[in-house]
Amino acid sequence: MNRGTLFWTPAVLRILVLFSIAGAIGFFFGERAALLAAIAALIASLVMQLRYLEHLSLWLDAPEQRLPDGWGAWSEIFARLYRLRREDEKIRAELAEWLARFREAMAQLPDGVAIIDDVLFLEWCNPAAEKHLGLDLARDQGMRITNLVRHPHFIDYLMLARFEKPLELEINERRYQMHLIPFQSKRRILVTHDVTQVELIDRMRRDFIANASHELRTPLTVINGFLELAVHDPDMPEDARRRHLSLMLEQGRRMQDLIEDMLSLTKLETLEFPLQVGTVNMVALLEDVRDNAVALSAGHHEVKLIASGPDIRGSTDELRSAFLNLATNAVRYTPEGGTVTLEWKNTDTGPEFSVTDTGIGIAPEHVPRLTERFYRVDKSRSRETRGTGLGLAIVKHVMMRHGGVLDIKSTPGRGSVFTARFPRLVVASSD
Ligand code: ADP
Repeated sequence: MNRGTLFWTPAVLRILVLFSIAGAIGFFFGERAALLAAIAALIASLVMQLRYLEHLSLWLDAPEQRLPDGWGAWSEIFARLYRLRREDEKIRAELAEWLARFREAMAQLPDGVAIIDDVLFLEWCNPAAEKHLGLDLARDQGMRITNLVRHPHFIDYLMLARFEKPLELEINERRYQMHLIPFQSKRRILVTHDVTQVELIDRMRRDFIANASHELRTPLTVINGFLELAVHDPDMPEDARRRHLSLMLEQGRRMQDLIEDMLSLTKLETLEFPLQVGTVNMVALLEDVRDNAVALSAGHHEVKLIASGPDIRGSTDELRSAFLNLATNAVRYTPEGGTVTLEWKNTDTGPEFSVTDTGIGIAPEHVPRLTERFYRVDKSRSRETRGTGLGLAIVKHVMMRHGGVLDIKSTPGRGSVFTARFPRLVVASSD
């Protein structure tokens, strides 16, 4: 049965019943009584319909209230309205939940997303876009984006509409890449991506290549110079030839040191090269470091070792390389007659290795940059003493891989203290 039949059948039946009752009254009490009864029944029915219409009108004003049960066709209408409302509430709740999830996802997004309309008014943006573009959604919604971000390149980018290429902008000393994506014919999505770190790494890589090439070119130029001399002057006196050969050997060694340090540094920075953790026999390692420092000093300094700290868990090879760098630096940057003290001890915060020298020291402005690759305070002194400029960068990475830090304290003309501090958890258990 269709809806029309379902509606009309009971209604017609109800009218037929009414007429039958009126007919029965007419049969027993006469025509007048039948007419009066029919009129009274019609009026009662009309009043009832009007009451239900009133209920419906009141309910539409406040749909959160319950609907009355109703009678006849009204009961079906009220039941359907009630079902519609329940479904509507469910859809609303689902939509609200979906919107909350979408907002949450957008808030977590590291990239900025802003929606602007065809006349460049800001409709919405996420917290990352607020941060990148210096916006405040509550304050700036509905404002023209070109009035909010007043960078001329940004305005050109929007006006010229060449969106196939991203725009790079510097805002508040950070670099952002921006894309404008048209959507829904009248709106545009502006996506901002912070590339400061990527650029920094890229610049460091470029600088590293430039510095490394420069460092390698210098000894190579010296070697080539001597080789050319040898080619053009085959009758060179024996002592000059020997001197040239020993200078070439020295430059060759310098290149080798450089390449070895560069390879170590690259390995230490590679995530695929995990730390080879084992128990480090600290006394053996420290004595080895001390012996190397003594050999380098060749009797020109007093080298002391004080070792009271525990054995630790870590990479023996990496720690040897880091401690050797610190100890040999102390010898290299301390004039003859000075003292170099190597000390390994435990502290409340964890074990630490310190190298104290009575050497030339470092001016405070250089200290924060010492662990940068190829950073040297005095280039000629570093080269004279076979320095690669990479030693402290290696120490820094080794310490990072062991969860530790390198601390540098220095007074020009008096000496320096380089301290490698480890966290407590590196201490090897005694069993
Ligand atoms: P280098 O191979 O040039 O010694 P490092 O990375 O080991 O390179 O050290 C960087 C710079 O830090 C050195 O060039 C030097 O100027 C300074 N430096 C390192 N250790 C000391 C020290 N113990 N005393 C004074 N200056 C130091």
